[in-house]
Amino acid sequence: MEVTKRTLLQGLLMAPALAAPALLLSQSEKVFAQTPKAKTYNDTPGFHHYRVGDFKVTALLDGYFEMPTNFIKGYDEKAAKASTIQSYRRFTTGSIPVPVNAYVINTGTEMILLGAGTPTFMGATLGKLPANMAAAGINPDDITKVLLTHTHPDHVAALAKKDGSKAFRNATLMCSETEWNFIHNDEVRKASPEDFKGMIDYARSALAPYKDDRQTFSGKKELFPGITSSPLPGHTPGHTGYELHSKGEKLFFWGDVVHFSTLQFANPDWKVIFDADAELALKTRRAIFERASTERMAIAGAHVDFPGIGYVEKSGDAYRYVSAPWMPT
Ligand SMILES: [Zn+2]
Repeated sequence: MEVTKRTLLQGLLMAPALAAPALLLSQSEKVFAQTPKAKTYNDTPGFHHYRVGDFKVTALLDGYFEMPTNFIKGYDEKAAKASTIQSYRRFTTGSIPVPVNAYVINTGTEMILLGAGTPTFMGATLGKLPANMAAAGINPDDITKVLLTHTHPDHVAALAKKDGSKAFRNATLMCSETEWNFIHNDEVRKASPEDFKGMIDYARSALAPYKDDRQTFSGKKELFPGITSSPLPGHTPGHTGYELHSKGEKLFFWGDVVHFSTLQFANPDWKVIFDADAELALKTRRAIFERASTERMAIAGAHVDFPGIGYVEKSGDAYRYVSAPWMPT
């Protein structure tokens, strides 16, 4: 099956015909499936604990997309190979596995879920958030707030259960006012291509159960002691990051600043077709890379290689990603 923009968008829209699509089956799965007498092991649980001062952060893996490289504007195979080899990753042509990470921040008084992942029907390699949450010892009913970076389906689709009720029944939804208004703007929907209309409808239905239990905010705002919103416009108009401060330590969460860890730190000018305003997204990416590298500030990214927590180092006119070291939590 040829992977095109349309087929992946249909996948994102949960077209039933793509419930177990070849496009979402990774190369490595295919290889292992063909290995004679391959022993089956349990999957490595997709959770990782990290501490920022008094905050305990748990990274949770929802799974991964097999993302086609033709979704990248400016992609160049020679440069891609060089940056992939430099980051010690296996180079593949055609598509690259892109993780979907969510995070739980335990403040001591709140359990804040950042990103809600995808339902299983978006692909066999996704929808693992509930299992990984359970493995980490977190009950969905423990979640008191759901904080959104933006409203694309891979970050919100699992907010609602199949029956339309809240998947996190004790949680209040928190989201930038710009993002909430953008996704609920009928003029925006009308002007969108057909594929994106479906994405908008899906996001709206995932957000609907929280309509009467939500808080919106604008710009830079301290939402909880030590947690401040930070606008990162471009990918979507209301795309927002969150900055954690505690005891002199910092961690900056972003959503879709980077989709391809091996490519976009080394080639920050490469854009993805999902950006609502690709030029603004590029400006935002360069600005946050610059800040993170100058301040030696740890970052956590929804599509950065799991657990997605690390540092951004300056390297000439570009950058390099360095995973955060293990530390007792
Ligand atoms: Zn995303």
